[in-house]
Amino acid sequence: MLVASANGAVGLPFGRAVLEAGGSAIDAVEAATRPVEDDPSDQTVGYGGFPNVVGDVELDALVMEGTTRRSGAVGALRGFRHPVSVARAVMERLPHVLVVGPGAERFAAEVGAEEREMLTPAMADLWERRVAPRLEGGTPLVGLAGLAADPERAGGTVDVLALDREGRSAVAVSTSGWAWKYPGRLGDSPIVGAGGYADDRGGAAGCTGMGELAIRAGTARMVVAALAEGRSAEEACRAAIVDLRRLGTDRPPLVHVVCLAADGSHAGASTHPARTYVYWEEGMDDVAEAARIEVP
Ligand code: ASP
Repeated sequence: MLVASANGAVGLPFGRAVLEAGGSAIDAVEAATRPVEDDPSDQTVGYGGFPNVVGDVELDALVMEGTTRRSGAVGALRGFRHPVSVARAVMERLPHVLVVGPGAERFAAEVGAEEREMLTPAMADLWERRVAPRLEGGTPLVGLAGLAADPERAGGTVDVLALDREGRSAVAVSTSGWAWKYPGRLGDSPIVGAGGYADDRGGAAGCTGMGELAIRAGTARMVVAALAEGRSAEEACRAAIVDLRRLGTDRPPLVHVVCLAADGSHAGASTHPARTYVYWEEGMDDVAEAARIEVP
């Protein structure tokens, strides 16, 4: 089975091919995430993603397998086509979980990850018009923090969750983060337990939206822990959003969660109305879309 945030639909056929061939959940989530990273029309993931405030595209990604709870992640990675695969390589080849910035770029080059200029001409143009004029005269970036665009208008991330024939769960998350973010800012997406978590005793979960909130609340871990305690997929998602609501926030929280329980049930929830997620399970001809419950 596969579950993804709605923008993951373009990748699910690739994850499906892995699972139908008897492949592992971790291979499936990586395979399903790569096409989303390549999609220039997705302005929130990989190529074509929004740059940070100084015009650099800095990408975050995570993978985690639920059987061993091994994980790998990269943050603020520049110039590589598939952050999710660099995250996978961190898991496979380093005794670390999270590598960021120049160290992540050095590692990506050492393992032969494909380089790519991730800033599209369209995004470069948008940054030139909207943000570059504000930087003239050496304005300290901290004074421009308010520019970081609300993820409701200029955010997004892809979450992909899988359960394979052996009952192994996995999650992958990939994002360009908030538009015009402060350089070096990491969101929830590369943080184990915040943007994604997998544990075969419960299942897998992923978050999108205001990552700062999911970091503070440990949201993905919370969903999986609720599943492991026997709560339904819908209840687990609802409980995590109710918990987020208790955080002190300057503006109304915007967070979305999806989960895929170890028994194959799944759900999505959002602080906002009319949000969806996509899923596929063995026997289905096509990917289907389902409504997320709204937890206002
Ligand atoms: N969660 C992502 C981040 O905070 C952004 C998003 O999903 O809109 O970087």
